[in-house]
Amino acid sequence: MKATNLYAPTLRQTPADAEIVSHQLMLRAGMMRKSANGMYNFLPLGWRTIRKIEQIIREEMDAAGGQEMCMPILQPAEYWQESGRWAAYGAEMMRMQDRHGHDYCLGPTHEEMITALVRDEVRSYKQLPLLLYQIQDKFRDERRPRFGLMRSREFIMKDLYSFDKDVEGMNLSYQKMYDAYDAIFTRCGLEFRPVEADNGAIGGGHSHEFTVLADAGESSIACCTKCDYAASDEKAELAAVAAPDEEMLELEKVATPGTNTIDSLVEFLGVPIEKTIKAVAYETEQDELVLVFVRGDHDVNEIKVLHQLEGALELRMAEEEAIRAVGGCPGFMSPIGIKEGTRILVDSTVMNMKNAVSGANEVDFHYKNVNPSRDFKDVVVTDLRLVREGDPCPRCGAPMKMTRGIEVGQVFALGTKYSAAMGATFLDEQGKEKPFVMGCYGIGVGRTMAAAIEQNNDEHGIVWPRSIAPFEVVVVPINAKNEEQLRYAEGVYGELKQAGIDVLLDDRPERAGVKFKDCDLIGYPVRIAIGPKALEEGTIEVKVRKSGEMFLYKRETYLDEVRKLLESL
Ligand code: ATP
Ligand code: MG
Repeated sequence: MKATNLYAPTLRQTPADAEIVSHQLMLRAGMMRKSANGMYNFLPLGWRTIRKIEQIIREEMDAAGGQEMCMPILQPAEYWQESGRWAAYGAEMMRMQDRHGHDYCLGPTHEEMITALVRDEVRSYKQLPLLLYQIQDKFRDERRPRFGLMRSREFIMKDLYSFDKDVEGMNLSYQKMYDAYDAIFTRCGLEFRPVEADNGAIGGGHSHEFTVLADAGESSIACCTKCDYAASDEKAELAAVAAPDEEMLELEKVATPGTNTIDSLVEFLGVPIEKTIKAVAYETEQDELVLVFVRGDHDVNEIKVLHQLEGALELRMAEEEAIRAVGGCPGFMSPIGIKEGTRILVDSTVMNMKNAVSGANEVDFHYKNVNPSRDFKDVVVTDLRLVREGDPCPRCGAPMKMTRGIEVGQVFALGTKYSAAMGATFLDEQGKEKPFVMGCYGIGVGRTMAAAIEQNNDEHGIVWPRSIAPFEVVVVPINAKNEEQLRYAEGVYGELKQAGIDVLLDDRPERAGVKFKDCDLIGYPVRIAIGPKALEEGTIEVKVRKSGEMFLYKRETYLDEVRKLLESL
């Protein structure tokens, strides 16, 4: 392609409303433009990169046995009512009615749609496994669309769904997808890590998130410094801190005026924060009160709390009235003396504490010498806290490190959650009806593009990994108004194209400085400049964007050299 035929409007200034570097650079490099809140137009350069990422995904999905298909974006409510998610999905789902008053949504994902399709089509175990995928727009009315393609409302997703006859088969499909994701993100030139993930509202069994390590990421992940354990902060498992070797003393109620926060309590009593127990009171959307207790210096992991509450999807802070109704006292809470039948969850570390301090369910009073294993009755004990830097790895015990990342893909072992709810069954070897055992596997195409830029940029612009660059090579005649130079550059461009290299000729009649700046901003991996030296001496100047290295090659051999260079990138 020639730049005179390419719409690539670069900007010199950083757009004010773009907070992170990938968003800024995509706008500045003329790759995309905002159309509305959380929605973007892809311009030709940006679309080339999207198409390249899609092609890598497609090749790896096909190699893993996937079959590409396409489903409608608009989905009838009935499918979602069958699975129970019409009510559960909440405000993120974009809902609408057609002219007959029937309810629809713009697909935020396609589990329901594909389960309904396969239910009506596939009858026998002989037709399994079946791995179907599409690459298509999804719509989610995100609470806070931001960071450009990173969290948009309309975005391109590759979603594959696997159907197997048993759990063993599902695990095989899962492993195939896991390996394919590994290949995809490696081919995209990303530094990433598969991370054990919580399965969230989608439900089912185990799951991994593929996370690109980058400071701009919204995911917080715990990585072991010794073994390869890595988990999202929501998921990271934590063992209880062992019980200290201490004699249990007698429970004592003490006056602690004005100490309704942990900090004020620690100061007033002069005890270490590790000796205190903190309470957080929640209510579910079914208005059930849940009291959660963790050590004073720990934080509650609400996802782990939700897993203890069958059917609940959301937690809100409890009203004081609800706390008082069960005998609790806000700011001075303890499981001791709470009305029977109240749901009380206690973190396993708390249960091992000895002679600790907790509230006394009375304003301005605390208990000293609380020994949970002796004093707490009718409580559920489990891992409820949020991981933090330095916590021990659940696999090997070495300290864990917290890092930030961008979730670019996720693999889920769903089991029979959707097939059972929607009556999607097949006949097994014995002629018995069984629900399909499913998995689902998503990749955010635009988010992958943004993540690649977050990891590959410098003060001049984007530094594309070769595999997903909009063009691999740019040929720049230094003075395109010079007929001879332009003709020479066209010759080189033609030869590269002939050799199967994805090349752009920057034939714009601009100053060389302007064109070089654009080359760096857009981030073509290799730049070839054609100037007087080429014409006079037959030498071709080649610059590598990533390293800044410059090479002078002879006209006779440059093609091989460029090929070798590209292979090394
Ligand atoms: P997140 O936790 O970031 O909201 P998710 O877990 O809801 O994402 P999935 O349902 O697993 O996302 O979707 C599969 C992939 O789609 C994600 O891994 C991500 O790459 C991409 N994705 C999800 N939401 C968005 C969005 N709002 N904008 C861009 N890409 C998205
Ligand atoms: Mg996810």
